[in-house]
Amino acid sequence: MTHSMHDTHGDHEHTEQCGHTAVVHEGHIDYLHEGHLHHPHEGHYDEHVIDVNAQNPASCQPMECSCGGHDASQHEQVPHGDHYDYLYQGHLHHPHGDHCDDHGSLQTR
Ligand SMILES: [Zn+2]
Ligand SMILES: [Zn+2]
Ligand SMILES: [Zn+2]
Ligand SMILES: [Zn+2]
Ligand SMILES: [Zn+2]
Ligand SMILES: [Zn+2]
Repeated sequence: MTHSMHDTHGDHEHTEQCGHTAVVHEGHIDYLHEGHLHHPHEGHYDEHVIDVNAQNPASCQPMECSCGGHDASQHEQVPHGDHYDYLYQGHLHHPHGDHCDDHGSLQTR
């Protein structure tokens, strides 16, 4: 887990009620904010990335996707390994050719 600090965060404070999507990540809560996962940490925010593992693989796993194409104005982007996915219906969707790859589920609340 890298511990990199997001130093241009501004005044916004993430809380359970702030309106950003709260994601359950390895037992803690992160917030989806402009395509980043922000984790409140001692007065600043860490940047988190969903690890590539058995639960969230980065391989080609075609799935049925009815969205007709993802774009960042409609679906939240989530950093996963060295790429970005879209969060749609509780899953990480990775557009790949004419289909979406299923990069596993993400628990939100
Ligand atoms: Zn927020
Ligand atoms: Zn996290
Ligand atoms: Zn933030
Ligand atoms: Zn694929
Ligand atoms: Zn999709
Ligand atoms: Zn992915």
